[in-house]
Amino acid sequence: MFSWFGKVSFVPYSKVADFAVHLKDGRMMGSVCDACGYQTFPPRADCPECLSGEFSFKEYNGKGVIYTYTKTEAAPTGFDDVAPYTVVVVELEEGGRLVGWLGDTLDVDAITIGDNVQVVPRICGKGEDIKLYLTVEEPGTTWHKAPAPHVD
Ligand SMILES: [Zn+2]
Repeated sequence: MFSWFGKVSFVPYSKVADFAVHLKDGRMMGSVCDACGYQTFPPRADCPECLSGEFSFKEYNGKGVIYTYTKTEAAPTGFDDVAPYTVVVVELEEGGRLVGWLGDTLDVDAITIGDNVQVVPRICGKGEDIKLYLTVEEPGTTWHKAPAPHVD
């Protein structure tokens, strides 16, 4: 169970709850199926390939390619102050896809599907007010990570 990112998990126990512990420390953890080796991000407790319920966490490097993207000019309520913005779907090289915001190191007019990119976790706030978003940046972009926590 976790209570970061402004949400409280209503599931009393989840095998992938430690995902949030790692995210708040700047680590992107995916899962590797212990039975067949299927890898995905975000982590999945039960393997979609072989249905095994046993997995291990694996730290992802965040490298991937642009799967698709869209530039939003007319933003929905709550996002008007950040428009225009670009949201990118990244196909991760280690398996899985995610949605992130186009970061400052890339120009929306210069990107195209298939470009190599680096996903970077951005964290702001502390405690229960902590917020996290993922930005899609130029390959080679680095970020700060907290020391690895002990997680069972
Ligand atoms: Zn499997």
